[in-house]
Amino acid sequence: MTGQVQFDSHVLHLLETTVALVNAVTPGTAGGRPRGVLASADLGAAVAGAVHVDTVEAADAEHLAELAGRARQVVQAVADHDPDRAAGIVNVLLLETGARPQLDPAAAGGWALHFHGPDDTLARGWAAGIAAGLAVALGSGLGGRLGVCDAAGCDRIYLDVSRNSGRRFCSPRCQSRTKAAAHRERSR
Ligand SMILES: [Zn+2]
Repeated sequence: MTGQVQFDSHVLHLLETTVALVNAVTPGTAGGRPRGVLASADLGAAVAGAVHVDTVEAADAEHLAELAGRARQVVQAVADHDPDRAAGIVNVLLLETGARPQLDPAAAGGWALHFHGPDDTLARGWAAGIAAGLAVALGSGLGGRLGVCDAAGCDRIYLDVSRNSGRRFCSPRCQSRTKAAAHRERSR
């Protein structure tokens, strides 16, 4: 066994993209600061960055931002130790996005199981992929690897791929911010 958690590389890519998208576009708090709803120009750029493309059309960006809001609810339900709520939302997403498994040629030869939407347009393809990635995580006992940042004033999410399943923060910055606060508290 390596230190990597046993997500298949396709599922890992889907979950990492889900985390990037949720953190880029959902309002709430980030690193101790409020995070507002993005204006549409900023939203397009934020979605494009999360899914690794140059540009995203406004309608697609809004579609994926709405999806990200519901993906956040799934992760929050996991963090609240409410798997029934998480599963309920994921099942609705699977139906709505038309997520379906498909065998695609693997880079190393042979075939790999991937998830697609009803078509492979950007928003529909990613919406289905995000729903499927969450479903695989929850259905394989790895849902607990998704979490909400423990730092004060931060609700960004993370995917924990550490060996010891010990991740608690969205970023090294939130981790050091929390450590510094605890240190100040102790030395008071
Ligand atoms: Zn954080």
